[in-house]
Amino acid sequence: MLIDVHCHLTAPEFEGRVREVVEKSVEAGVKAIITSGLGYEDGLKALEISDYRIVYPSLGVSPYMLEGYERVIELIGRESRRIVAIGEVGLDYWRVRDDEERNRQRRVFREFIELSKSLDLPLIIHSRSAGRYALEILFEMKAERVIMHAFDGAAKHAVKAVEKGYMFSIPPSIARSQQKRNLVKRIPLENLLLESDSPVLSPVAGQVNYPWNILVSAEWIGKIKGVPIEKVIEATGRNAAEILDLRL
Ligand SMILES: [Zn+2]
Repeated sequence: MLIDVHCHLTAPEFEGRVREVVEKSVEAGVKAIITSGLGYEDGLKALEISDYRIVYPSLGVSPYMLEGYERVIELIGRESRRIVAIGEVGLDYWRVRDDEERNRQRRVFREFIELSKSLDLPLIIHSRSAGRYALEILFEMKAERVIMHAFDGAAKHAVKAVEKGYMFSIPPSIARSQQKRNLVKRIPLENLLLESDSPVLSPVAGQVNYPWNILVSAEWIGKIKGVPIEKVIEATGRNAAEILDLRL
């Protein structure tokens, strides 16, 4: 099963053509798409466009735009039965250099981890330039259902997370990223997922990305692991359905 565990169908790039993008994804063989709302308003939109046949919502915030995150926490509490994950949430040390602001990111991140545990929902983690720090907090708080999305940290840190059963979703930008290829080399197929992160992280820099480009991720994973693409699609689909509790 081809499953895109993380993208943003509510992004301005797709305005007025969400249905078309979903239809084209289905034609390409995509069976499920998790669209991630960023912030309260976007979260409402993510809920609204979810059809629970192909499109499913997750709710979170950008770690560098935490204004009003309390409302997102309330929304998650209210809609916990209608969402498949909390996310993306996490840390972004690439955009935020200020110590105070990073402290705030960590504080808010802990609140979301706590929430995911109390609601028993999986987490989709953003950890740009902060992979090991995000993992430290997740380990310390004993988070169990975790998807590390577009992880840009060192493979040696990822390996520790694999030991705890964490999943790593691989974006189509693997076509232009040696770091992502190293990561795939070190992570077993049992811990890999496919994500597009559309509209960003396309295989070609600067282009708008689409959910069906998870086929590019699958192809690269197959090449690196030396297995047919069908096997990658089957394994990552099974992993995704299991951690997100999707009944497809
Ligand atoms: Zn994203």
